[in-house]
Amino acid sequence: MALLAGKKALVFGVLNEYSIGWHIAEQLHHHGCELAFSFLPGEKIERRVVKAVEPFGPKFLVPCDVSKDEDIGRAFAMTSEKFGSFDILIHSLAFAPGEALHNPFLQTSREAWRTALDISAYSLVALSRAAVPLMNVDGSIVTMSYLGAEKFIPMYNVMAVAKAALECSVRYLAAELGRHEKHVRVNAISAGAIKTMAARGIGDIDKMMAHYTEKSPLPWNGDTAAVHVGKTALYLCSDLSSGVTGETIYVDGGYNIVGW
Ligand code: NAD
Repeated sequence: MALLAGKKALVFGVLNEYSIGWHIAEQLHHHGCELAFSFLPGEKIERRVVKAVEPFGPKFLVPCDVSKDEDIGRAFAMTSEKFGSFDILIHSLAFAPGEALHNPFLQTSREAWRTALDISAYSLVALSRAAVPLMNVDGSIVTMSYLGAEKFIPMYNVMAVAKAALECSVRYLAAELGRHEKHVRVNAISAGAIKTMAARGIGDIDKMMAHYTEKSPLPWNGDTAAVHVGKTALYLCSDLSSGVTGETIYVDGGYNIVGW
């Protein structure tokens, strides 16, 4: 059954075939959704993204650094031109300067804080604002969070603050946009550890994966972890979740419920 036949999605945050955004796109594509992608401007990145998303036959690709308002304006101008209207916005991106993830949290600079929260949290608000006028009724916005928003995770530091802001933004956007004439839903997925480029920047991802594999109630491993996330994103983008908004849904094999 094609859950998203006739729907169109704009996906932010695919870098390669390991990206969580790629696994979300795979599920949406499998269920009949037409896809378009943004990528962080840069020749090397563009080549990588073009190759990664080729199997999805994208309608278009557009460069967009989400910390730049003019890039966001251009991305949605192209979306309007190529898609007309659309149904689904995937926000699967984050960034914090490396030193803020490796130095003690106490040493977090004002600039690192500003950058991390701008790119990783404010961008959801900025993209949603640009997206909603082009979105169809009953559209869906999905973003990616992590347990660090709530619990201490070694070295997650300022990214944890950004994820807390992101989850809070999801609730405020959901409250406003649910009452908006478009009734757009906004939800976050809090994913368990997945071996991606972004995760490598945080710390010892192999050690983290091993810990998840050992502690999670359900099996959690590199082969299937991102697929689980993609499937929950499919649910959140489809009519199956028509009554769900403002939520942060854990997709981590149950890791977050374990106390010891
Ligand atoms: P990834 O490296 O594959 O994707 C991160 C994306 O962010 C890349 O496409 C990158 O180009 C993009 N990006 C960074 N700065 C940008 C900017 N200024 N403008 C536009 N795009 C920018 O890594 P991923 O793990 O797939 O990350 C996707 C999301 O999932 C992130 O929000 C991340 O925090 C979240 N997440 C990841 C994990 C994990 O273990 N990998 C767990 C929970 C949540």
